[in-house]
Amino acid sequence: NNETIAQTIDRLGAVIPDYPQPGVVFRDLTPVFADGPALRGVVDALTAPFEGRFDYVVGVEARGFLLAAAAAYASGKGVITVRKPGKLPREVFAENYSLEYGEGTLELHRDDMPAGSRVLILDDVLATGGTLAAAARLLRKAGAEVAGFGVVLELGELGGRERLGDTPVEALVRY
Ligand code: AMP
Repeated sequence: NNETIAQTIDRLGAVIPDYPQPGVVFRDLTPVFADGPALRGVVDALTAPFEGRFDYVVGVEARGFLLAAAAAYASGKGVITVRKPGKLPREVFAENYSLEYGEGTLELHRDDMPAGSRVLILDDVLATGGTLAAAARLLRKAGAEVAGFGVVLELGELGGRERLGDTPVEALVRY
């Protein structure tokens, strides 16, 4: 059909008010991931702008893993995981970041890729940008060059894009 990928995401995405806490409007993309053509369209749209400009795809736990594994496979590249604390068994870099309530930490294995590697970092939603900014700091600590960020949804009013500096951000839908 003639629907754009943005229209498909808008049609399939679920909106849950007051989840996981009052005042938050949660954007649930699991119905997009569950739809075969939509998943393929999302992954293709996230990788196309960065074609030939990345050596690895990085996924942020947990929904970013789904996108990153699919994008890496489709591109013939490897996938790297940025994880919540205590999940990676070998030596890690760690970065703290602020959440809406409290603090979070993300970790990356120190030797996942050679220094100078170019990486594309994927996640489902860009909100305040704290998560992707922390992921980028981890990759740069490991000597990688961040080629870009890709997200399915950008919640524009939270200003996340501004926290990501000059690195290109591809967002398929912006609310
Ligand atoms: P942030 O660090 O504020 O950009 O938040 C991004 C992370 O939190 C992503 O991993 C998202 O999956 C999740 N997230 C934040 N806000 C929302 C929201 N309104 N709906 C769905 N996921 C969200």
